[in-house]
Amino acid sequence: MPSPALLWFRTDLRLADNPALAALEGRQVLPVFLLDDASPGRWALGGASRWWLHHSLEKLAAALAERGAPLLLLRGRAEIAIPALADAIGAAEVLAGRRYEPWAREADRRVHEALSASGRKLRLFTSALLHEPHRIATGAGRPYGVFTPFSKAVMAQVAVPAPLPAPGRLTPMANPPAGESLADWRLLPQAPVPDWAAGFRASWQPGEAGAATRLARFVSGALAGYAKQRDIPSGETTSALSPHLAFGEVSPRQAWHAAGEAGAKFRSELLWREFSYHQLWHRPELPEIALRPAYQDFPWQPEARLLRAWQQGRTGYPLVDAGMRQLWRTGWMHNRVRMVSASFLVKHLLQPWQDGASWFWDTLVDADLANNSASWQWVAGCGADAAPYFRVFNPVLQGEKFDPAGAYVRRFVPELARLPDKWLHRPWEAPAEDLARAGVRLGETYPRPIVDHAAGRQRALDAFAALPKSAAGALEESRT
Ligand SMILES: Cc1cc2nc3c(=O)[nH]c(=O)nc-3n(C[C@H](O)[C@H](O)[C@H](O)COP(=O)(O)OP(=O)(O)OC[C@H]3O[C@@H](n4cnc5c(N)ncnc54)[C@H](O)[C@@H]3O)c2cc1C
Repeated sequence: MPSPALLWFRTDLRLADNPALAALEGRQVLPVFLLDDASPGRWALGGASRWWLHHSLEKLAAALAERGAPLLLLRGRAEIAIPALADAIGAAEVLAGRRYEPWAREADRRVHEALSASGRKLRLFTSALLHEPHRIATGAGRPYGVFTPFSKAVMAQVAVPAPLPAPGRLTPMANPPAGESLADWRLLPQAPVPDWAAGFRASWQPGEAGAATRLARFVSGALAGYAKQRDIPSGETTSALSPHLAFGEVSPRQAWHAAGEAGAKFRSELLWREFSYHQLWHRPELPEIALRPAYQDFPWQPEARLLRAWQQGRTGYPLVDAGMRQLWRTGWMHNRVRMVSASFLVKHLLQPWQDGASWFWDTLVDADLANNSASWQWVAGCGADAAPYFRVFNPVLQGEKFDPAGAYVRRFVPELARLPDKWLHRPWEAPAEDLARAGVRLGETYPRPIVDHAAGRQRALDAFAALPKSAAGALEESRT
């Protein structure tokens, strides 16, 4: 009888299209999920992700139990807990989907070393991405710094394999070790902290079945209008698959194939995700340090009061505030509004992009180290293929363009709901009688703008102008 295998679930909390699971080939298996808060350091899961993880593990455990092989829950540092468990059950192999975060690569190296010392193997599979980020390189063998040539190279070189089916029954171990209970992990909001997750429960169905439902609904609905509608934050214009992808409840291969050739724009967004991982792989400092060296000395003006107003959705700019409140209430924010609110923080308020990224990390259910870090660097103008620093989103015009009838702002900033469309994105310009009719008292029921748009924009441009002249081209230079 071949020795049992340890199936280590990480960011692939699904049974279908799971190559590590498929590699079991009928062997006895012990499925395990390890909560390791030590290895990631400051990038341990944030509050919103913990909420998601709790529910996702519940679903995964039920699906595995149905197939005869219950999920073992453990806590500890990977390099100690995984080899110890493999030893305890006599597993020759540990099978897992590959992770790409710098801390996870280091942890895997140590797990691999510890397993090898007792003649065991760690086998990692491409599970969370369409392709391995280190396999794509420019003609000169370098990493890509620009999205378009990167995506063309992926399209030319990568044939996305058809997704694998979910397995039937699994062969469990006869006497698996005892694990921990999910409730003991306290991943959900705990009293006396107020229950901040009511809006999450109303918005999401974590788990593989929820992911499949979301994907099917998107493919038969919003996908057709996706290329044109995706910037509209009200209504279901995008897939909202990001948390399901972040936890691996659906694989990018499944999403890619479900979208088909007609879903080219959607597929291109999946490639942005791959591009983020490409950057993280080659520039592990991505979450902490500006990729463009000149930006490392950017004259940020950190101020707790401003950061707090932004976090609470009380900047006085309705689109920004609606986005920040959507984030707090549902754990998610529409991409266009993420761009506008992030830009507002770093440009209008001159707060360090790392502070914004940390807040998103804690509050997003789709918090993903590669996507979050690359996107914040993109917005701040200091990352790969970034928006130029001098392009400062105007939150009023963005609101009027993408939320012209105000459905989005009215939903998340109800105190402005009765304002006419004309003033909804610029309430401080509304005539007194319109404000009074709508029940808005500026500075009382809704804040006045925390910064004047033109002055904030100019201050950002001045700060940018003070950077060394090489700032804009520094990234490309550093790559050649
Ligand atoms: C400041 C900022 C922070 C962000 N932080 C995260 C994060 O932590 N996690 C995260 O998954 N995305 C992040 N994004 C990217 C993007 O906003 C979300 O992926 C998207 O809004 C998720 O919604 P969706 O699933 O409906 O996307 P869809 O439009 O349906 O796209 C499908 C999938 O493609 C990927 N994708 C879409 N847009 C991008 C993008 N710009 N960059 C990389 N991948 C993309 C996502 O996996 C998404 O689920 C961030 C963007 C900004 C501007």
